[in-house]
Amino acid sequence: MSNVNLKNIRKSYGSQEILKGINLDIKSGEFMVLVGPSGCGKSTTLRLIAGLEDVTKGEIYIDDLLINDVDPSKRDISMVFQNYALYPQMTVEENMAFGLKIRKHTKDEINFRVKEASQILKIDNLLNRKPKELSGGQRQRVALGRAIVRKPKVFLFDEPLSNLDAKLRQEMRVEIKRLHQLLDATMIYVTHDQVEAMTMGDRIVVMNDGIIEQIDSPESTYTKPKNIFTSTFIGTPQINLFEGELKKDGSDWMFDFQGSLIKINSEHYQYQNLEEKKVTFGIRPENICPLDKMRNKEQENIIDTEIDFIEYLGSEMNVHLKAKANIFTARFTDSINLDSKKSISVLFDVNLGHFFDLNNGEIL
Ligand code: ADP
Ligand code: MG
Repeated sequence: MSNVNLKNIRKSYGSQEILKGINLDIKSGEFMVLVGPSGCGKSTTLRLIAGLEDVTKGEIYIDDLLINDVDPSKRDISMVFQNYALYPQMTVEENMAFGLKIRKHTKDEINFRVKEASQILKIDNLLNRKPKELSGGQRQRVALGRAIVRKPKVFLFDEPLSNLDAKLRQEMRVEIKRLHQLLDATMIYVTHDQVEAMTMGDRIVVMNDGIIEQIDSPESTYTKPKNIFTSTFIGTPQINLFEGELKKDGSDWMFDFQGSLIKINSEHYQYQNLEEKKVTFGIRPENICPLDKMRNKEQENIIDTEIDFIEYLGSEMNVHLKAKANIFTARFTDSINLDSKKSISVLFDVNLGHFFDLNNGEIL
């Protein structure tokens, strides 16, 4: 177990700057997920930690030791790739043993470690097969096994589940988390899939175009996004965003979005700088609820909507709604029958929403 520290890391290829000052403090034993859209610099960050590329500027530390100039083979890091990167001419056993052999471990030690890892990963019955005789899921297990036998200080994963089908991906997600608990290891995991990030990470690093937008627990990333980018990248269906105007009405604050009006509990939002101006309001689909006439008769913040279409998902449904010029999505978990309905009134749970600066997208 080791901690990993990135201090103001920059990486350029030619004149193009890919990483623009990355600061990351990964704790010993932590499962840290880097998530962000394709091309934002996730793999580059991993490759710099592994030593497969040189940093342009900044420092990388493992256990407080500067490793910028340490050879990759001496960094004591194992990396698992999306494409498995197994040696096709070697058996499973030979693939797993290879890294130990070149590091001159004894035969007994190698046999012991390969056996141990293959039992953990349930591939001990496949040791004599070649990669081409394995399914995608089995190949990825072998790639994991090859990483585990090394007992490295740090594991790096670069989208290791992207080539697997949805069901297998879900199974492997759980297994990698289990492995993390069992090995008590520091793991840095890259994905573009926000569901993987949310379900696997102790903390999540949201990256965008070479910078870090937010570092937080999955829960805080979801409920307390620092800006519009994070709020939209995490969560499906996506958070609803409305451009509108904050207005003072006597002692009340209102948000006026294209003729729809909601009242703001200014005590709740007192940490935010409310002033009369144009803003973006974000509210997640599950915070827009069907109006229960009995319970909510006296409630404010009821919006009359037309139902555009409905996606049934079994335990819940995504209801696409229109109110004046606004189009948005609500997620209903209560079972209500909307079959013959063309319109519905919904309640905005405004306290769970967020106001963002219209210009820079930062939370107010
Ligand atoms: P991600 O893993 O987040 O999808 P990458 O880290 O692979 O993104 O790439 C980030 C950016 O750096 C991309 O625009 C990519 O084209 C560029 N890039 C990556 N490797 C090189 C390279 N060897 N030479 C030039 N540009 C590169
Ligand atoms: Mg990548």
